[in-house]
Amino acid sequence: SADKKHDYSIACMPADGIGPEVIAAGVEVLKTLSEASGEFKLSFQDFDWSSETYKKLGKYIPDGGLEELRKHDAILFGAVGAPDVPDHISLWGLRLAICQPFQQYANVRPTKILKGTESPLRKAKTGDLDWVIVRENSEGEYAGQGGRSHVGQPWEIATEVSIFTRHGVERLIRFAFEVAQIRPKKHITVVTKSNAQRNGMVMWDEVAAEVAKDFPDVTMDKMLVDAMTCRMVLQPNSLDTIVATNLHADILSDLAAALAGSIGIAPTSNLDPTRKNPSMFEPIHGSAFDITGKGVANPVGTFWTASEMMRWLGEEQAADRLMECVETVCGQGILTRDLGGSAGTKEVTDAVCAEIKRSY
Ligand code: ATP
Ligand code: MG
Repeated sequence: SADKKHDYSIACMPADGIGPEVIAAGVEVLKTLSEASGEFKLSFQDFDWSSETYKKLGKYIPDGGLEELRKHDAILFGAVGAPDVPDHISLWGLRLAICQPFQQYANVRPTKILKGTESPLRKAKTGDLDWVIVRENSEGEYAGQGGRSHVGQPWEIATEVSIFTRHGVERLIRFAFEVAQIRPKKHITVVTKSNAQRNGMVMWDEVAAEVAKDFPDVTMDKMLVDAMTCRMVLQPNSLDTIVATNLHADILSDLAAALAGSIGIAPTSNLDPTRKNPSMFEPIHGSAFDITGKGVANPVGTFWTASEMMRWLGEEQAADRLMECVETVCGQGILTRDLGGSAGTKEVTDAVCAEIKRSY
């Protein structure tokens, strides 16, 4: 529509390891898409928050930083984590320190097998996969509640308390049903462990049953998380939208990424569905220091991330076009090493940019 905005300000936060390499590739592809399509404009602002700033200044986020970040329409994030910073420090210091105040309570992970790529499922011939995993991203097992007493003693006790609020569970499951409703299969699988965990998980089941009443066109089934891992491998076609807790979906989505072929291709969106705060988009892979600086990181996960970001901003056509171009390039066999090819980051990026220009 005429009054819709087509001019977006993107906060770029490459952070650690291969983050800067893949984010540079993503920005190049987005600029090409913007110019070639003429459908929207983008401006980028760099945020250099990383484990390097943490090591120098003792904090990831400078004073007033979140208010600066809030001014942008979306955040394009690379990866956080460094060999000499404990993982729980970097995760809580940067990623969760943005997700939590910005109420990005829904983490969305689409997974499918891209053209030209190999999947262990194809080899196993159990079926194809095309899923969206919706992960609770604000509470649950990663609420950060708990503590330790008698540290180092043989009788030391540590607690790690999961927090499930009806408010938090309801808003997330409702959002997941909305995701399921606009997909062709209109099917959702609610994952819990309500046989063994009899408080939070039972409430989760009850809330799912209540929310389901508002979505009569969506079919729902329920799975225990352990059985779910088997079903993902053995009957991948039977699944579509999957909703699970913070911990369960964390594990299931790594399995999903491996089943789709490589951790290097998958995106994840940290969404505030109320749109009061900017949402944050990132490839699911981490900082991968083993390949940092070698020019071999797969940028496809960041391209798919960029596509998801444009979709969230309302540019569906550009988002679709970008993924078509990525699949065309993959289909031509221009693949990085993790996908069995020999192309570098730059070769794949140049090929995708060329395909975008050719396609308009
Ligand atoms: P973090 O601690 O931040 O999670 P990590 O070093 O554990 O990072 P991951 O990103 O989780 O690394 O990935 C595990 C391995 O998968 C890496 O060591 C790397 O070899 C490979 N990998 C990850 N991302 C990519 C990518 N984009 N392209 C190619 N290989 C990748
Ligand atoms: Mg890791």
